[in-house]
Amino acid sequence: MNKNLTIAIDGPSGAGKSSVAKALAKRLNIMHLDTGAMYRTVAVALAGKGIDPADEEAVLKALPELRLELRFSEGEQQNYADGVNLNSCLRTPEASMGASDVSRYPAVRRRLVALQQDCAKSRSFVLDGRDIGTVVLPGASAKFYLDARAEVRAQRRFLDLQKMQSPQTYAEVLADVQRRDAQDMNREDSPLRQAEDAVYIDSSELTEEEVLDLIVEKLKERRLVGEAQNA
Ligand code: C5P
Repeated sequence: MNKNLTIAIDGPSGAGKSSVAKALAKRLNIMHLDTGAMYRTVAVALAGKGIDPADEEAVLKALPELRLELRFSEGEQQNYADGVNLNSCLRTPEASMGASDVSRYPAVRRRLVALQQDCAKSRSFVLDGRDIGTVVLPGASAKFYLDARAEVRAQRRFLDLQKMQSPQTYAEVLADVQRRDAQDMNREDSPLRQAEDAVYIDSSELTEEEVLDLIVEKLKERRLVGEAQNA
């Protein structure tokens, strides 16, 4: 493997980026950074201080005081704010919308992008997010844009939320997905878009395993991973 492999997986919410990125990192025996979890951490930490993530002025005022820290325990990313591990609070609908809100502010993005770039400097990583191939690591070893129809993405999210006993209906989840898509694609700073040199994958009709195989195939074609890593 090349020294310091960096693999960017971008795409809209619910396309399956995080699970595919996690499985890919495991298969290649490298680290995984879920950058969405970092935006979620900022939103949840600020909400815990009574700050509305949609209130830009209040967020920008509190941001410099917020102590953010990433730790990796047995390959699992642990997201800390002010010394508290927030991992168990990041998957609620409020955290999703709050993350989409705070991610519009350039000061928040600058802070998190710097942390993400720092991670990828020292070790090989699969990073998933919205702007990895375009802004965080424009020189990444390989870039993928993972997409799926909004209805399919909403259905996946709906099933995940049901497992967490969420009362949200499918129609509500679909509306949230569409609202987040619009906000992520139309924001001024680093909008979600496919990098020119990213491989486009529509996962609407594919299983996670099939997406993973497709990605590994592309990496092998480019000689970024060898047969041994694909056991
Ligand atoms: O990927 P996930 O759904 O966890 O991301 C939550 C939100 O964080 C997204 O809707 C998006 O607004 C924001 N985000 C971002 N840039 C990233 C990762 C996530 O703006 N690299």
